[in-house]
Amino acid sequence: MAKIVLSKENLFHNLNLISKHAGSKDKVAVVLKDNAYGHGLSQIASLAQEFGIKKAVVRTLDEALLIEQYFEDILILNQNNHSSYSHAFHIALNSLEDINNIEPYSKVHIKVDTGMHRNGILPNQVKEAILGLHKRNIEISAAFTHHRSADNLSCDFFWQSSVFRAVKEDVKSICEELSIPIPCFHSANSSALFRHKNFNEDFARVGIAMYGYLENDPTFKLPCLKPVLSLWANKISSRILKKGQSIGYGGTYQAEEDMTVSTYDLGYGDGFLRINEKQDYTTPKGYKILGRVSMDNLSLNTDDNEVCIFEDVKDLAKLQNTISYEITTSLSTEIVRVIK
Ligand SMILES: *Cc1c(COP(=O)(O)O)cnc(C)c1O
Repeated sequence: MAKIVLSKENLFHNLNLISKHAGSKDKVAVVLKDNAYGHGLSQIASLAQEFGIKKAVVRTLDEALLIEQYFEDILILNQNNHSSYSHAFHIALNSLEDINNIEPYSKVHIKVDTGMHRNGILPNQVKEAILGLHKRNIEISAAFTHHRSADNLSCDFFWQSSVFRAVKEDVKSICEELSIPIPCFHSANSSALFRHKNFNEDFARVGIAMYGYLENDPTFKLPCLKPVLSLWANKISSRILKKGQSIGYGGTYQAEEDMTVSTYDLGYGDGFLRINEKQDYTTPKGYKILGRVSMDNLSLNTDDNEVCIFEDVKDLAKLQNTISYEITTSLSTEIVRVIK
């Protein structure tokens, strides 16, 4: 069976670099949305806990419920159903309208739109949000924002940071006026964290760097991260492809000489996208994907019983003109995850 192997050693290596850069393990919230970027939600959650991480970020309440046992605080980014919360859960407030949908006594992180224009309230709505939440007895545990291009060499990062600095001052003075506790502040994803020389926010929300990738402009000094996930497939059958014969749907690959080929149990049904066929992708051992990737299998010029399809998605991402995030996140939840 095709499988995903997760390297505990590489994950711990990355988490170690990340928590050193952030200042401590307590200043890191691991981002586990979308099945931990395709790595496996419960596997990565339990490993992160073993490493000593206490905070996590997910997309939905369902994800939060699956990992509740591992963390002290879990931020839920996009929750439409605002009931049934645990004391560990914090809900992102994405708009002023949401205030009335959130149950009293829940905990909220106010999302502020400092320039990405996706979700969140505007900086000039901060007071209205705090007053509204306070009136409904909702605890404001943090205010946060998200950078739209911390990975690029542009001034956007500084512009959004300065807007957020002003928001922090506002939040502090409004909370002081109301005599309510001043919440935490956070704004950094992986790229933003590594752009800070002296990181001084309460915590960073780290996704892609934990999994071993960082897409920052190469002019930034980048940490030496190691990919956590490798993808493996098993042989279904082998045959000799004679010179001139072609293989798979559409017969798009033709043998130039007699060759050994085998079919492996991995295809686009597992999230290994069909687009791979158009490219000249070779596996880490140098095997070529021959012709089209089918739903449940693909063909390679080898007869090895087990083949590593990739252990680092950077090359594949470049070939497919996408980012590492998309390749790992596409992998089916059905594939077995093994921790090594
Ligand atoms: C996905 C996400 C992150 C993590 O971003 P990375 O680039 O993977 O570190 C952080 N914050 C929010 C709000 C996100 O949606």
